[in-house]
Amino acid sequence: MFTPDPPWLRRFRRNLLRWYDRAGRDLPWRATRDPYAVWISEVMLQQTTVAAVKPYFERFLERFPDVAALAAADESDVLRLWEGLGYYSRGRNLHRAARVVVEQHDGRFPEDVTTLQSLPGIGRYTAGAIASFAFDVPAPIVEANTVRLYARLTGLDGDPRSTAGQRALWEFAEAIVPAKRAGAFNHALMDLGATVCTINEPRCHDCPVRSCCRAFADGRQAEIPPPKRRRQLLLTGQS
Ligand code: SF4
Repeated sequence: MFTPDPPWLRRFRRNLLRWYDRAGRDLPWRATRDPYAVWISEVMLQQTTVAAVKPYFERFLERFPDVAALAAADESDVLRLWEGLGYYSRGRNLHRAARVVVEQHDGRFPEDVTTLQSLPGIGRYTAGAIASFAFDVPAPIVEANTVRLYARLTGLDGDPRSTAGQRALWEFAEAIVPAKRAGAFNHALMDLGATVCTINEPRCHDCPVRSCCRAFADGRQAEIPPPKRRRQLLLTGQS
């Protein structure tokens, strides 16, 4: 597995963040660093596209503007607002987690990944996203777009969804996240995966980190990840 050295890390972080400052996506949930809003958006974005989530996110925050309002609601009201988004267990878990935050954390979102992961419905990716986007904690993230991006950057052979592939990609994500601007950095990774390092025909000539990319150097970007895994990756992340 590719291990980034300090010059590679410096170049990668600098090029990626410069690109993000210029070309990052303008999304409603990025206008705030409120961990509650970040959490709602991240849960909605699991298995659902950005375009579909936007109106739901706005309606949800209007009806439940903070974690206390959500915790005090009836589950049936929460699920009514969720109608059409699918995967209703996400809505139920949101409601349960809001009650835990209010009852066990005085209504304040924990900043550390381990405590975040103890809340209902929050897995490793979502915990890293909340910690980095809301608090700039240097927490790694791996989701569908970044799986593909990391696999290409590192020239990963084999299935990135396998246990060994996942372990390697999480290790890579941990190695690259910077101590400063971790939230912007993680947003940038997701944006690059969603808009440039796309599933089919990645736009390598527009890519700000192509000088850091093993797949590009070897001309293997069309082979990584293996084509039979791509549809599955498309179905399991933000786009
Ligand atoms: Fe993806 Fe191409 Fe950029 Fe490599 S150079 S990260 S394959 S878009």
